[in-house]
Amino acid sequence: MNLRDQVLGYLQTQAMRICGERVDGGAGGVIEVRYPWSGEVVATVPRASVEDVRRAFELAHAYRPTLTRHARYKILMRAGELIAQRLDDIAQVITLESGLCLKDSLYEVGRASDVLLFAAQHALQDDGQSFSCDLTHHGKQRRVYTMREPLLGVISAITPFNHPLNQVIHKVAPSIATNNRMVLKPSEKTPLSALVLADILYEAGLPPPMLSVVTGDPRVIGDELLMNPQVDLVTFTGGVAIGKHIAARAVYKRQVLELGGNDPLIVMDDADPLKAAELAANGSYKNSGQRCTAVKRIFVHEAVREEFTQALVARTKAWKFGDPLDASVDMGTVIDEQAAMLFERRVKDAVAQGARLLHGNVRNGASYSPTVLDGVRSSMEVVEHETFGPVSPIMSFSSLDEVIGLVNASAYGLSSGVCTNRLDDVMRLVRELQVGSVNVWEVPGYRLEVTPFGGIKDSGLGYKEGVQEACRSFTNTKTYSIPW
Ligand code: NAD
Repeated sequence: MNLRDQVLGYLQTQAMRICGERVDGGAGGVIEVRYPWSGEVVATVPRASVEDVRRAFELAHAYRPTLTRHARYKILMRAGELIAQRLDDIAQVITLESGLCLKDSLYEVGRASDVLLFAAQHALQDDGQSFSCDLTHHGKQRRVYTMREPLLGVISAITPFNHPLNQVIHKVAPSIATNNRMVLKPSEKTPLSALVLADILYEAGLPPPMLSVVTGDPRVIGDELLMNPQVDLVTFTGGVAIGKHIAARAVYKRQVLELGGNDPLIVMDDADPLKAAELAANGSYKNSGQRCTAVKRIFVHEAVREEFTQALVARTKAWKFGDPLDASVDMGTVIDEQAAMLFERRVKDAVAQGARLLHGNVRNGASYSPTVLDGVRSSMEVVEHETFGPVSPIMSFSSLDEVIGLVNASAYGLSSGVCTNRLDDVMRLVRELQVGSVNVWEVPGYRLEVTPFGGIKDSGLGYKEGVQEACRSFTNTKTYSIPW
């Protein structure tokens, strides 16, 4: 039996994991998870009821984690080893539920191991502070100390479809590192990797009450995930519309909201256009363009526009897309046909408004080709809104002031990429772009799994993710002072 069939055999009928217990859908029935390339059903997951979710919170709330730092470190490191041993199987699961190509899925599994490594290291860090109290003229012989404690209540985590494993592990691993309890609801489009991850963590020794995975229709269970009184913090990654809905519903709960992006790549007049075009293609097409930090607007200085555009078209034509399970393919499908149809329509509309289609905009089901558009204006829907797919829209500019204005005119402010070797321009862009990150000579999506990451404006409330920041937001600081 080949690996695909083995994985399919394993997936079939999945149950939820409520504090380790396998729970099926009961009267609620199931949700079908389809392989976007063929449309076949690869697994079903339960459609949780409000009572299922409430029970998950109750059980988690009743449990008090007592793992030492060393025990947390060991569990996270062991889970990393298990993931590395099962790399190929897990990559197949990601591909089958999302249509991402195997290259993207293998990369994602590698990132997941990095997250576990950094979370394990964080578990070992005693991050309390100490202040001497004789710092001022009315000082005393005392010391003030701080220590970080897990939340009293449970963390409710909600994740999107585009990185089925990585978005999940960026919430789960910091929760374990900080001795918290989490109830996770992955995207109903890609719930399988989260279930696989939960099993690996239980196998690595995680006490089951520290992690539950519930699956279901957000219209049914969404409010319970946001408003359950045993929830202290809601951590959400997803689109702006749901993010703002959550902000309004999860009242008096800590909220970490990582929302959509519309990230620019800025190519200045001194930039090597070939090197910049390579970054543009990688930034636009990796993960089928479905990264919150994908390149979604390309601003090219007039002086290098022609050379850059030719190089990007050549690179795009060479980008191999097709069967996601073919290991040589650079890009699989997007998440579903509906998404692909939206990109196709937006590109057609842009062309009707004067943009030039230089390559692509070919759709077949959920398969959508890498696409280059030139002569795009900020008012066109394809760039005004987040187009969450493999589209490279080129816009030109002639001065630094102009491009800063164009970037900042967007409602979003997640990340950015900059191609220039002039330090004075770099520092102006770092200071003046209204975004969470600036990467010079890198794609906007460049990050380490430990470094602070997150957006402002419509891209988020400014609370960052990345293992270090997530561990901070998942803990309360206790301050105490003693007289010696
Ligand atoms: P989405 O907003 O449609 O869904 C995200 C999650 O919210 C899913 O699990 C969904 O079931 C859940 N949800 C939907 N309605 C809900 C409700 N009423 N109550 C509670 N939960 C509800 O996003 P998506 O289409 O899965 O993902 C794509 C979006 O995610 C893009 O906008 C992308 O930019 C964004 N994203 C952001 C980041 C980041 O770090 N900033 C990272 C990845 C993806």
